[in-house]
Amino acid sequence: MSDRPVRTRIAPSPTGDPHVGTAYMGLVNLVVARQGGGQFLLRIDDTDRTRYRAGSEEAIFEALRWLGLTWDEGPDVGGPKGPYRQSERTALYREHADLFVARGAGYRCFCSKERLDALRDEQRARKETPRYDGRCRDADPAEGARRAAAGEPHVVRLRVPTDGTTTVRDLLRGDVTFPHADLQDQVLVKEDGFPTYHFASCVDDHLMEITHIIRAEEWLTSAPLHALIFAGFGWELPVLCHMPLLRNADKSKISKRKNPTSLLYYRDAGFLPEGLLNFLGLMGWGGPKDGEGGASREVFTLDDMVRHFRLAELALGGPVFDPAKLRHINAAHLRALPARTFAARALAFLADESRLEALAPLVLPRMETFGQLAQVADFFLGDVTQRPDLLVPARKTPPEQAAAAEEAWFALGDALEVLERVDPWTAANLDQACRGLGDAAPAGWKPKDVFMALRAAISGKTATPPLWESMELLGKSRTLGRLGDARRALPEPSKKAQERREKARRAPPAAPAGAGGPTGAPTPAGAGEA
Ligand code: GLU
Repeated sequence: MSDRPVRTRIAPSPTGDPHVGTAYMGLVNLVVARQGGGQFLLRIDDTDRTRYRAGSEEAIFEALRWLGLTWDEGPDVGGPKGPYRQSERTALYREHADLFVARGAGYRCFCSKERLDALRDEQRARKETPRYDGRCRDADPAEGARRAAAGEPHVVRLRVPTDGTTTVRDLLRGDVTFPHADLQDQVLVKEDGFPTYHFASCVDDHLMEITHIIRAEEWLTSAPLHALIFAGFGWELPVLCHMPLLRNADKSKISKRKNPTSLLYYRDAGFLPEGLLNFLGLMGWGGPKDGEGGASREVFTLDDMVRHFRLAELALGGPVFDPAKLRHINAAHLRALPARTFAARALAFLADESRLEALAPLVLPRMETFGQLAQVADFFLGDVTQRPDLLVPARKTPPEQAAAAEEAWFALGDALEVLERVDPWTAANLDQACRGLGDAAPAGWKPKDVFMALRAAISGKTATPPLWESMELLGKSRTLGRLGDARRALPEPSKKAQERREKARRAPPAAPAGAGGPTGAPTPAGAGEA
């Protein structure tokens, strides 16, 4: 790599709640930029308008700021290489697409959607991997330019060499070789003129003078395409480093089904930003080796990390995002707080004035003195202990009780799917969205059993202020977090039972009147997964 000043970036897409994976990438990119005395950039990757979610960009800023992962250049703070929102850079992409085609590295493709659909169907029927057959690849470029100028709809594709391989060097994996036969002539600019992720990302990384692309492992397979795009422009490829995916305890890719993944959840649940950063720093790294006898020290600060972290030495074996470990690390930071700092931060956590103000209408009817505040408001102010005995309606015999526990597990899963999509998070919308859940109560359940399970999950109690108002005040991330905790507090039904249930859901019997509706119908399992 040349001796350009180090510039790193993260490029989150505003498609939902700010994710712990974004913070992990942010942390490492910030550390590497600081180590190199350079800049850390925040770019908003918002070219995919279908997945765009209003409010998500602000939530990303808020969460990263809470963590102290401050960026030197970004949409809100500006900088010399802006704009830093991809949706504001379309003219740049268009200009570069023309250049790319003129260099022969890409070509215009005028194949109709019907032709491409038919092609795909034929290939599928022959059990081949669907891919573009290259019909427009060798058409006369002047003819393509003329048709494009006449306004004929088309896309721009990458011209992948027909034989040979592309080798990319990954900082952690060394050389990784991809046969061209496995790559596609990917679309770089769509018919609507918007670039795809691959093209926009490469153009931006070059124009923003990024020297190190440090991103999640799932992008490794895109690396050869990016190498071809950089080469097509005649640009120098930045250092590439694909970070290991964070995993659930069972080694599957981290998902909100198994762990809370929203950064706002951790903030609202009272984790310390330095605790969460320390924990993320441990993903693939053992900590500074400055303990006794050169032992690594697993409790450290961001500054420690800047001093001691070595990206190239990161371990690749999928690091496990273990909530128990996170609590343990967080506790170490908490217990190290001087009493005065503790007091200030405890006060800020408990007595955020706007939070208390919102609490007033819910708790005032239930208290006579301030002495009762903590008790009435306990589940707003602090964590709850999940009570399986309250989550599941009481049944006479043990087998009936076990069946009810199974149903409660499924009911909480349905609720999670429905609640995930509630936006904005208001009591009225929650009420509306959850009506279908009550109507779809499992056999032998009454709607009130479903709502009791929800109440017990968010509060650990059977009597609370009104459910929807309580959820609104608790906020989305904490409500979903607690529902997930409640589910994990119940025995997980067998794989068979889960499959049976899935099948029943896919072919639902005549829905009871009022079930579902635009906001109430549960979607197939897996939807809404991170
Ligand atoms: N928008 C992509 C993401 O959400 C960025 C990937 C990259 O860093 O290139 O992860």
